[in-house]
Formats: sequence, structure tokens, C-alpha cells
Amino acid sequence: MIKENIHNFKKNIPENVTLVAVSKTKPIADLKEAYDAGQRIFGENKVQEMVDKYEALPKDIQWHMIGHLQSNKVKYMAPFVDLIHGVDSFSTLKEINKQAAKNNRIINCLLQASIADEETKFGLSFEEITAILASKEFAEMKHISIVGLMGMATFTNDTLKISSEFSSLKKLFDALKVSNPSLTILSMGMSGDYQIAIENGSTMIRVGSSIFGNRNYIL
Ligand SMILES: *Cc1c(COP(=O)(O)O)cnc(C)c1O
Repeated sequence: MIKENIHNFKKNIPENVTLVAVSKTKPIADLKEAYDAGQRIFGENKVQEMVDKYEALPKDIQWHMIGHLQSNKVKYMAPFVDLIHGVDSFSTLKEINKQAAKNNRIINCLLQASIADEETKFGLSFEEITAILASKEFAEMKHISIVGLMGMATFTNDTLKISSEFSSLKKLFDALKVSNPSLTILSMGMSGDYQIAIENGSTMIRVGSSIFGNRNYIL
């Protein structure tokens, strides 16, 4: 099933949209099946789980951290993480920069924007994002590259609402790109709303349950 799901996604999403297979909570065997179907980008939301899977699986996999970050965990993934989606504070950026420097790397990050109305969803306001990108402190961080933005829409059946939230992030993305050409990735869309996200300009979707099936517990 996983194999067919990967093939179907690859066939049905536009060429300019990258599929992140969200494998959190799933066993190594499931990731291996996706890998054998050609999938090379996996998303995890817990650092320790990502480290364990990194160690167990082939080294040509690109590992994306999609969860909320605790600064004290950054050091464990700094040697190998390919993209960090959920950066939502300046102090986290500073810690990533520090750990990337120790590993002699430049780590790619997305700033997470708050677009949904639930209080539980993390994220920066549009003003904060604009301010970070324009700041001198950010300009001095040599081991970080901010390559785009990430957002999660409200969990609702109201497709117009979801569409308007994604569209507001796309507008910010386009406006910021003018003075920040390194912004190329707009990470929006999960199993329930990736089609709406793509209609609104997403270039990277993070899909878990539609590939691997339902998770046994909610994270
Ligand atoms: C779990 C998760 C996903 C994938 O969710 P599905 O609904 O299973 O596709 C995407 N993005 C983030 C940030 C997640 O935590």
C-alpha cells in the first residue's frame, strides 16, 4: 500500500511540488517500503526518533524536522538534518546557527508563520517574519539559510477558510521574495488539505496518513 501511495502522489502532484513523507510514529519497515518506492525525503517531528531512523536507514535520505523545536535538542540533529520547517523564534535560530557552526554546516530553515486561529499552533506573525529577515542579527548568522516559509491551516472542513489562510501566506512569501531571493520553498499542505495548498502556491507538501495510514496516537 505504501508503495502505491507514493507512486500515486508522485504521479498526481505538479512537478514543482516536493513531497515530504511524514513518517513520525511509523516503524522502520514502513520507511523502507517508501524508500524502495523511490521516496528520499522524510519528515519527523521528534528529534530522538529522527536520529534513530537516520542511523538505521540509507544515508541518501534527506531528513526534515517538521515539529516544534526545543532548543536543547537541536545539537542531536545538527550533523545531518536537511531542512528544519518549524522555526518560530529568534532564539531557536540562534541555537541552530551555533550547532550548525560546530558541525561546519549551513542548515536550511523555514520560518513557521501563524496562519490558523487555533492557539495551539505555533508560529510567527507576518511582522515578526519580516523583521527577522531584515535584522542585522540574522545577517550575521553565517550557518543558517532561510530558504522559505511554512504554515499550517486551521483544522476545519471550511475549505474557503483554509484557502484564504494559505493564500495569505503565499502573498507574504511573494512579497518577501523580492528582497530575499533565497526564499524558494513554501511548505503548506498535509493529507487533509494539500490540494488546497497546491492551488494556493505550495511548493512542498508534508503528507503522513495518506501515505502510511492512520497513526496509532495523536501527536
Ligand atoms: C503530522 C504532521 C503532518 C502530516 O499530517 P497528516 O495529516 O498525517 O498528513 C504535516 N505537518 C506537520 C507539521 C505535522 O506535524
